[in-house]
Amino acid sequence: MVLLKALDGCYGDGPDAIAVDGVTLSREQLLGAAGVVAARIVGAPALAVLARPSVETVIATVGGLLAGVPVVPVPPDAGPKEREHILRDSGAPLLAVAAADRDVEAYGARVLTVDPAERGDAPAEPADGAAFVLYTSGTTGAPKGVVLGRSAVAAGLDALAEAWAWTPEDTLVHGLPLFHVHGLILGVLGPLRTGGRLVHTGRPTPQAYAEAGGSLYFGVPTVWSRVAGDEPSAKALAGARLLVSGSAPLPVTVFERLRALSGHAPVERYGMTETLITLSTRADGERRPGSVGLPLAGVRTRLVAEDGGPVPYDGETLGELQVRGPMLSDGYLGRPDADAESRTADGWFRTGDVAVIGPDGFHRIVGRASVDLIKSGGFRIGAGEVEAALRDHPAVADAAVVGAPDPDLGQVVVAYVIPDGPVTGEQLTAFVAERLSVHKRPRRVVLVEDLPRNAMGKVLKAKLG
Ligand code: ATP
Ligand code: MG
Repeated sequence: MVLLKALDGCYGDGPDAIAVDGVTLSREQLLGAAGVVAARIVGAPALAVLARPSVETVIATVGGLLAGVPVVPVPPDAGPKEREHILRDSGAPLLAVAAADRDVEAYGARVLTVDPAERGDAPAEPADGAAFVLYTSGTTGAPKGVVLGRSAVAAGLDALAEAWAWTPEDTLVHGLPLFHVHGLILGVLGPLRTGGRLVHTGRPTPQAYAEAGGSLYFGVPTVWSRVAGDEPSAKALAGARLLVSGSAPLPVTVFERLRALSGHAPVERYGMTETLITLSTRADGERRPGSVGLPLAGVRTRLVAEDGGPVPYDGETLGELQVRGPMLSDGYLGRPDADAESRTADGWFRTGDVAVIGPDGFHRIVGRASVDLIKSGGFRIGAGEVEAALRDHPAVADAAVVGAPDPDLGQVVVAYVIPDGPVTGEQLTAFVAERLSVHKRPRRVVLVEDLPRNAMGKVLKAKLG
């Protein structure tokens, strides 16, 4: 099985088939430069890559894949603690960097400098084995290394190509970090498997998206929120084919504004490092605000109640989302405890996310069982519903809701709100109480200037409260 089909000469080539932050490469040039990396790492157990948004990151990643050496992307802006954790935990003896980073602290790994101008013979891709050890985003704890097989990556990309009608005619545009599933696997390997061009904008600004002239656009909700807030840029996307959001819930307010300005209802997809993408709305189907749609080809899902029993698919009853499919990872690196916890005896992966499924099969992600499901006085309250209600207030720019311990009720709803105009906590509490059942109203509203987020724009709820 060839993973990087587009490098195999399948879909033609062009001088700017790959553009990252203004630097362009043809696929042939990429293959030549990656061939040099591959020759230098043959037989290594893993290749860490300091994953800046650069052609060097793309070259090093492809070099690792050609050599059959699992690639370990390292977030470039992570503090030294996270970088050391990933390098030591993965055991990668080599760290590939661009020339400008050759003096980086590598915690015992040997630094290998990637030169985009070099050309070497590329080896034939191996047929199977691990493609990546990819670290989770670290939203709920220390990032965990996930072992992703080549066939899982290929299956995951093919399922997305089918759902999004992604073809060699597409130009993919995004400015996402290159060290997670979204930016690297979908955003770099996607065009190298499916064909078509890649334009990585360096930074994901609304202006850069507007000027890129692509057909397929990827963003996380914070990116789409900025685009939706910049009218000329959002309108400039009218000529695109498909806008895709994922990695965190897309606020309905952002969905609606994007649709109004660009004429495109965004597609929303759901996935995890551990499972790749498993659910999405489709290019040829309904794009429903607040919904991540249907299982991708080959994926099965089920909801399981807290007592392990079945959950009715009535669009209302919550359950833990479990998935299976050909794109699932081989498990965590060196974490048999986390592996055992995350797989059921009958082979399903426990996502740890709470969801509802409607009679029509559409899935809605409520949030993480650990932080987004608030248990208050016998009620189960989804943080996202309260957040959405708060965002409907004209003086609210954004909101994050958590459960705070309470001796009487178990937990109470606490809201952290970024105001966008004069507003008081009492006014917001009353506003929510008018829209949702009274037990869902926040008992406390904290006005803040900003919310703590990680590189994917996910709110770090453990840091609130
Ligand atoms: P960690 O596992 O280290 O705490 P993380 O779970 O954020 O970090 P990822 O694997 O990058 O790391 O993210 C997967 C999670 O992102 C999912 O479990 C889910 O909670 C969230 N997620 C992804 N896509 C969506 C979406 N469209 N809507 C809501 N949540 C989403
Ligand atoms: Mg996770």
